[in-house]
Amino acid sequence: MVLDVKDGSVLASANYPSFDQNLYATQYSEYSADPGMPLFNRALQGLYTPGSTYKPSVAVAALDTGVINRFSTVYCNGVYNYFQDYHPKCTRHGHSGNIDVITAIKWSCNIFFYDVGRRVTSDVYDAYAYKLGLGQRTGVEVSEALGRLTTKNDSNYTASLEVQAAIGQGNTVITPVQLATYAGTIANRGTRYRTHFVKSILDTNTGKVLQETQPEVMDVIEDRGDTFDLVQQGMMGVAQTIPALASYPYTIACKTGSPQRSESYYAGSTRKHYTNATMIAYGPVEDPRIAIGIVVEYGGAGARTGQLVADIFDAYFAMQNGTLTVDEPETADPAVGDPTTEAVDGDAAADETDTAGETAPAPEPAAAPAA
Ligand SMILES: [Zn+2]
Repeated sequence: MVLDVKDGSVLASANYPSFDQNLYATQYSEYSADPGMPLFNRALQGLYTPGSTYKPSVAVAALDTGVINRFSTVYCNGVYNYFQDYHPKCTRHGHSGNIDVITAIKWSCNIFFYDVGRRVTSDVYDAYAYKLGLGQRTGVEVSEALGRLTTKNDSNYTASLEVQAAIGQGNTVITPVQLATYAGTIANRGTRYRTHFVKSILDTNTGKVLQETQPEVMDVIEDRGDTFDLVQQGMMGVAQTIPALASYPYTIACKTGSPQRSESYYAGSTRKHYTNATMIAYGPVEDPRIAIGIVVEYGGAGARTGQLVADIFDAYFAMQNGTLTVDEPETADPAVGDPTTEAVDGDAAADETDTAGETAPAPEPAAAPAA
């Protein structure tokens, strides 16, 4: 999903597997029986766990409410020991020790967001996530799924569920169009525009413009300090860890996510979970033009969508200077899309992992005695 940052208009909304509009009527029964579900509009209707793409939203909440500032740190030794009987983990990929908010976003430190999320509380970080465009109608003119965030009213609520929600897990599910809207809101430093497809309405006979869609502000987070600067610095740091974006001619800000799916497989004797790849991105940072939200089912790790982000920026700039070439559509290959046969290498956790070492949160933990 690609949006124009300046007004919230949709520049691209892509789904795969997809279908041929010309064959929709004649091939309808084949399409609807296809296990790849080509008729399902994932960009607008697909509900996905955001994983670590949620972390910048918790950072905005923590900074804007003053729970943390640019100097605040959380100590990461790889295990979160706040609870007596629940010890979620962090890979410490690229980081260790006292972690500030910029470093925590750049290297996706779970411990930082467990602790900061617990202190901010889900009521507060959810309120910011809604304002940024997650678990919330984006305003598109066609049917979209609402998604949901994890709240204290959830029937399976526990304190451990709440810390998992702070890293984009728990019961939280969002849509790709919400991810793009959220990326655009961060790019606009807290101003969220209504996401929309329609540019203008024309008279069919004369071609005269009857009505042009004006940008509509849906919500605003007043940045009273350096909140969006710090979040942006963290997200620029993420791009520096992904080769396709680190070397890109324009500065890009992004955040990856690698949320686990429920299905598992065996790598030798070790049971592992498939992961989706999620990504939010915007740029160029100096004057943001486009915002991107990506979900790749069974994508392995968010960082693997880095080349896709670079390709989208390439296409955008080529479109701007009139050099964009369009490939001929490929013929559909019914063999593609069986996720159970996809190879998954074992290095996903090396890039980043959103998991805490267990899929389901432990039962209600007791807070450890002050130590
Ligand atoms: Zn960490």
